[in-house]
Amino acid sequence: MKIKSLFTLTILFGLLMSCMTSCEESDTRPPYITVVSPQDSITIEAGKKLHIQITFFDNMELRSYKINIHPNFNGHEHAPAREEAHKRIMNQSQQTVDFEITLTSESRNDLLSGQECTRDIDIDIPADATPGNYHLIIYCTDAAGNETYYARDLTLVNPA
Ligand SMILES: [Zn+2]
Repeated sequence: MKIKSLFTLTILFGLLMSCMTSCEESDTRPPYITVVSPQDSITIEAGKKLHIQITFFDNMELRSYKINIHPNFNGHEHAPAREEAHKRIMNQSQQTVDFEITLTSESRNDLLSGQECTRDIDIDIPADATPGNYHLIIYCTDAAGNETYYARDLTLVNPA
């Protein structure tokens, strides 16, 4: 009886150890993104470069990032801004283009590794980009596939 319970205990202990090991191996915590620059709200003139400095952190292993800028005057949150942007388009003699861009680790051949990575990325804003409200979204994925994102408002204005 005593031997049997000791045997059971050994098996339980073994199961517990293997669980702890496998639990340690699987990363379930998403990465973390810090935007070093720009610090505050972003207003940028069409035709200029937007400089972004970002640091990505993960408890185990980073893998990739994605940066997306898309108009915010044609849908989701800011309906009044749409009217405003529309009026501005109508008042302009030159046709403007709603600016949208997506950069990825893969497209830039720039995969992340380790627990901390900093990137300096310049994004060219076309001179004919439609002024108005935009969203800047930065995604980060770790080696285990956990994803996190960071969203910031971005305002494009006409060249001075
Ligand atoms: Zn958006």
